[in-house]
Amino acid sequence: MYSLKNCMEEFVSKKTDEVLNIMKICKCEKCRLDIIALALNDLPSKYVVTEIGGLYAKSRELELQFVVDVETAIVKAAMIVNKNPRHDD
Ligand SMILES: [Zn+2]
Repeated sequence: MYSLKNCMEEFVSKKTDEVLNIMKICKCEKCRLDIIALALNDLPSKYVVTEIGGLYAKSRELELQFVVDVETAIVKAAMIVNKNPRHDD
């Protein structure tokens, strides 16, 4: 069994947690997902075919190639969300 997977999504999600740990902004689930969505809209998709249950071996490669672009997009998205948070009070 194989499936399509946007590995940019997983990578951005992981990186967002790192960025949120450093930045002094809201870390609730709504804000976190808003940041990930904004960042992903700014970045190219990276689809790969994976074997269900199998390990994804290319993530290292992706990390080196996109790390700066991804971090920039996340920080930009975090500042936008921080200015206009959409979470409930
Ligand atoms: Zn929030």
